[in-house]
Parts: sequence; structure tokens; C-alpha cells
Amino acid sequence: MTARILVVDDVLANVKLLEARLSAEYFDVLTALSGAEALAICERAHCDIVLLDVMMPGTDGFEVCRRLKSNPATHHIPVVMVTALDQPSDRVRGLEAGADDFLTKPVSDVVLVARVRSLLRLKMMTDELRMRALTSKEIGIENPALEAIADTGRDGHILLIDDRKASYERIAQTLASEHTVDVEPDPGEALFHATEGHYDLIAISLGLAGHDGLRICSQLRSLDRTRNVPILALAEPEENSVRLTRGLEIGVNDYVFRPVDKNELLARARTQVRKKRYTERLRDNVQLSIEMAITDPLTGLHNRRYMESHLTTLVDQAAARGKPLAILVLDIDYFKAINDTYGHDAGDDVLREFAMRLRKSIRGIDLACRHGGEEFVIVMPDTDLAVAAKVAERLRRRIGSEPFLIHDAGRSVEVTISIGIAGLAALDDTPAKILKRADEALYRAKRDGRNRVVADAA
Ligand code: GH3
Ligand code: MG
Ligand code: MG
Repeated sequence: MTARILVVDDVLANVKLLEARLSAEYFDVLTALSGAEALAICERAHCDIVLLDVMMPGTDGFEVCRRLKSNPATHHIPVVMVTALDQPSDRVRGLEAGADDFLTKPVSDVVLVARVRSLLRLKMMTDELRMRALTSKEIGIENPALEAIADTGRDGHILLIDDRKASYERIAQTLASEHTVDVEPDPGEALFHATEGHYDLIAISLGLAGHDGLRICSQLRSLDRTRNVPILALAEPEENSVRLTRGLEIGVNDYVFRPVDKNELLARARTQVRKKRYTERLRDNVQLSIEMAITDPLTGLHNRRYMESHLTTLVDQAAARGKPLAILVLDIDYFKAINDTYGHDAGDDVLREFAMRLRKSIRGIDLACRHGGEEFVIVMPDTDLAVAAKVAERLRRRIGSEPFLIHDAGRSVEVTISIGIAGLAALDDTPAKILKRADEALYRAKRDGRNRVVADAA
């Protein structure tokens, strides 16, 4: 995993030390000697992670972190504060500035590298999502980055797995000041409980009696339902760094050591909840953009672009296998009159209802799409012209026999359709030629009086 790391410290010797350690791990290292320089680099160059000294003259580490985290262009870059300050209140200040972690100098190599790798793994996943997600402008939904910046990280749904009553009562009470908390005192039930609920964070004790907390973490990572739920481990003070490192490799997102400092626990929980929601929004955004790219928003049918690209595949397959394939082109009769008489919204009602009846009348393997306006296309693999004509006739009747409800007007309107049919005719037939013949058949249906089915005679 190669990545670019920015090391920021006003003391050159500290910069050199971290640079040497990270270069030895084959990371690409950039350096900055002041907060201002660090911000300029982040704006200009791509950075995967920032290791940030707190005490610097001018813009200090807290301020650099706050600025990075409130800028939509940089808010997703993980920031690790590396500092000699080691009071819980210092850590909390850093976490509240938006830092992803707070490491105390002198930093052990193992802990540093494990942290960096774990944050990078997560970042690679979010980067992938960020890349795929269209920007909000393009698809008209909220911008995930702006929402993440505005997110307080509160009001999450947290599952606490801890078998010691005195401990979980105190921790649950602390977390409950900002979140909804469920407690699972039986580690044997933990996985079941975690997959049943929709959690934003799982906090788990590593000091369970008779259970290995890390094993539960690894199982949580392997299950679909919990794979993306962040894990905050509650570590015993004597927990060794090998196990903690192992935990990060398994997919534990963060630790807090006992005795737990309340504010630190809350700050770490908020960070995890915020990140979880951000990736969730990105994921929704990706899903939505995929759907929008191939779907007609009014009817929910496939759009023309999708149909045209998929039709080529279907025609090639049919030709290669010597199977028939039929195409129906449907057009609503005198649709303009519906718009003119009842308004455009009424026209939309008819189009939606029409699409619904269409969907109910075809098989799963048939491809229905809105070709534009009030014209639709159905591609039917494995179907010859005779069968296609029967399907078309059934559809025509299903449309014409039952009036369409117009919601605003509170009344119904009669709708009829004309259908043209063509099929794969010769081995050198193309999607464009078949569509054209179906269009010509449709034209004849219109010319001959509408509300009828005409098949291509070719
Ligand atoms: P014909 O029987 O010859 O097909 O007549 P027609 O009125 O159905 O055909 P024409 O092509 O003249 O008119 C189609 C109308 O469909 C014109 C256009 O404003 C309307 N239309 C296209 N897209 C939409 C839409 O999304 N919603 C609504 N309500 N109307 C639409
Ligand atoms: Mg029409
Ligand atoms: Mg038309």
C-alpha cells in the first residue's frame, strides 16, 4: 500500500525522524515546517494522511486540523496529531478539532505504522466511493462532503459489548448523553445482536471474561451486515501493543484506554459516527448515480441510453445462438390531447400508470424502456414475431380496456396505444435496422387509424 504522507512539525529534527521511519516503509513523504505551509500543501497536492505536530508558532496543530476538517476539499484526509502533550484534555482538544487520532511522543514505530496503515485502508475505500459518486450538482442531492462537515457525530446508534456490569453501566451512561445505546452483556450474543440492529458504532471491551474481544471484532468484519460499522475497542491499560496492532489490522477503527476518560470516549465516538455516516452517504450517492444513469426518473423504466447499449448485446447473443428476438415500439395515441385537456401533470400520471401496466405484462427477461416522450420500447429475447404479436395485442387491450386515473382531476381518461413490431431477420441485422422496421410498422398502425398492432412484413 503506497501512499503520500505529509509530516508537519516546526522542529526539523522531528520531521526528519518521522520522514526516515515512513520512507523505510516505502511511503511517499512530504514535509512542512509550519501550519501555513501544511495547509498550502494540502490545498495544492494530493495527501493521503497528515501527521501533525500540535505546538507550532503561528498556526498551531489544532487550528490546522480544524481548517482541514472544515474544507470540503480536505475534510476526508485523516489527521493524526503527534505530540508531547499527553493529558486527556489535550487529546480531547485534538479530537474535537477533528483529528482522527492522537499519538503521544515518543511514538513507537510499530504503533505509528499500524495506525497509518489502518487509516489508509479506510481512506482507500472512501476514496473509491468518492471517485464513483457523482457530485451533488450533477444529480441534485445534498453534497456528502458538506453534510459531513456539518455533522456533529451525535445521535448515533451504538452497541456496547461489555460483560462487566460496573463498566458497561458507566460507559453506557456516558455514551447515552449523546447517542442511543444498546448494551450486550453476553459476548456469545454479540454477533447476533450486532447483525440484528442498524448500528453506527460498536464499542467492545477487550477484557471480556472467557471471550477474545478481537475474535469478535474479526467476525464483525467478515459479516456483510456489520462489515462497515466502525469498531471502537475499550482496551485494558496493560493491553500489549502487538495485540493492539493486530486489532487495527483486523479492522478495529479506534481505541480508548481504561480508565476511560469520558470526554475522550465521547470525542472518539463522534468521530467514528461521523465517518460512518459519511461513507454511508457516499455509498447511497454511488448507488443513486448508477440508477440515475440507466433509469428514466418519471416511470422508473430503463432509459434510452441503457436500452441502446444493452440491445446490442441482446441482438449479438440472439444472432450467435440462432434464437429469435422481437422488438415492440409503443406510442400512446393522441397523447398531446391529454396534456392539452388536463395539463402536463395529468400526462405524467398517465405515463407512470402506463409504465406500471407495461411492467406487469412482460417477462423478467424482457427489457422495457422509455424511449422518449410517450414512446416506449420492449425488447423480447427468445421471442418470434407471432408470439410478439400476441403479447402486443394483450398489452393493447390491457391499456385500452381500463381507463387511466388522473389524480388531480379526480377522474379517468381513456387511453389507447399503437404498436409496431419487428424481429431479428437476418444474421447481418443490426439493432438500428430492427428498430427502424419497428418504427415503420408503428407508423402504419398510426396511419391505419391507431389503437392497433402492426408487424413488420420483412
Ligand atoms: P399520436 O397519436 O400521433 O402519437 O399523437 P400524440 O399526440 O400522442 O403525439 P405527439 O408526438 O404529437 O405528442 C406527444 C406529446 O407528448 C407532446 C409532448 O409534449 C408530450 N410529452 C412528451 N414527454 C412528456 C412528459 O414527460 N410528460 C408529459 N406530460 N407529456 C410529455
Ligand atoms: Mg403519441
Ligand atoms: Mg409521438
